[in-house]
Amino acid sequence: MKRSLLIKPMMNDMYPTATHGDGIYLYDDTGKRYIDGSSGAVTASIGHRVPEIIEAMHEQAKKISFVYRSQFTSEPAEKLARKLNELVDANQDYWSFFVNSGSEATETAMKIAIQHWQEQGDFRKHKILSRWVSYHGITLGALSMSGHVKRRERFVPLLEDFPSVSPPYCYRCPFKQIYPDCQLFCANELETAITRIGAEHIAAFIAEPIIGAAGGVIVPPKGYYQQLLDICERNNILFIADEVMTGIGRTGKMLGMDHWGIKPDIIALGKGMSAGYTAIAASLASEKVMKPILLGSGSIMSGHTYSANPQSAAVALAVLEYIETNRLVEKVEESGVYLLQKLQELKNRVDIIGDVRGKGLMIGVEFVADHKTKQPFSAKADITSKVVEKARDKGLLIYPASAGNEGVNGDAVIISPPFVITKPEMDQLVDIFKETLLEVQ
Ligand code: PLP
Repeated sequence: MKRSLLIKPMMNDMYPTATHGDGIYLYDDTGKRYIDGSSGAVTASIGHRVPEIIEAMHEQAKKISFVYRSQFTSEPAEKLARKLNELVDANQDYWSFFVNSGSEATETAMKIAIQHWQEQGDFRKHKILSRWVSYHGITLGALSMSGHVKRRERFVPLLEDFPSVSPPYCYRCPFKQIYPDCQLFCANELETAITRIGAEHIAAFIAEPIIGAAGGVIVPPKGYYQQLLDICERNNILFIADEVMTGIGRTGKMLGMDHWGIKPDIIALGKGMSAGYTAIAASLASEKVMKPILLGSGSIMSGHTYSANPQSAAVALAVLEYIETNRLVEKVEESGVYLLQKLQELKNRVDIIGDVRGKGLMIGVEFVADHKTKQPFSAKADITSKVVEKARDKGLLIYPASAGNEGVNGDAVIISPPFVITKPEMDQLVDIFKETLLEVQ
């Protein structure tokens, strides 16, 4: 057999070859069936092989797949921008800038924020503050904002030191405080960082509403985002919500920030926006952010060859319409309560489960070597990989979430099945997960 020339995350791992998918299931070339318990990388939110999306793809391909954004606009791109505005906030205009990945969406968000201030004559505001235990993408700008040690460490000389505040990680509070007595010390740390750096140098602060890949689903306590928003407003700093993982229904609301009633200045979307049917993502800028740009140079200084291509736009539009028509966000809210409870019940039966947390169908399970002391496993034990591999052998796919911040956060996995998962399928998922953990521990 010829050797594979495809660069994969782990070159020595024997990856199964996927052949097809159907609903919440994926199949490999041996005929083995897997529950897609993480929607890939929290992406395939409406499940696999949905006929309506395939139809929309086909219909658009019959008309036109590609036009260049500086030569044409297109009906699908215009409709997609309007639909996103409608879904995100019916009361104010958000403008869409289309890109191809979540990393490009956050990186464009950062550029929009900087440009917003430049267009008003302020060229000093160019820093973007962010948190540790966060992930905003793999390109250099996005990685600069990411507090993900493992993904940063090789490229540190090329990165800005944007992560400057601690995560709202109550299970392992970085300040050894207990909510609500802490009075949101973690949120107030932003004020300290702003004072140190100088608000006159800071364009924006970026945060994932619920921390995903870097922390295994960290949900902040009540009042946290309001406090952060107040600090940003007081200091004339824009607030960017990285909704790449949480956006478009994943947490049981259209946006993650909807849980706290926050309207961000800029929103980055990806993953669930096209549910994996095509590569498209977006940066959405509010009217307030766009106004000086529209009155100034007139547009955003960015763009990719494939930005706003009609083929991807038509597919994303079909996905959003499918989610709306089938009331999938409401379904996520309901299923999420059921799945979270079932996974929390495992806590008493499986020793290595330290914490189970989440919103909607974005649930994190954190592992501990010692239940009482919350002692995390050592990096050498690599417990996350063991769990993920064993689960895959048993026909369940889950997402590894560990930022390599030894001593700061522990090993965790994300369970985030497609929105269409049924109760019996959730039961089956939990059974396989439990069996996996009992064998690994
Ligand atoms: N932002 C968040 C919150 C993410 O979870 C991710 C990917 O996991 C990204 C940005 C980067 O997205 P992409 O992998 O599509 O570039």
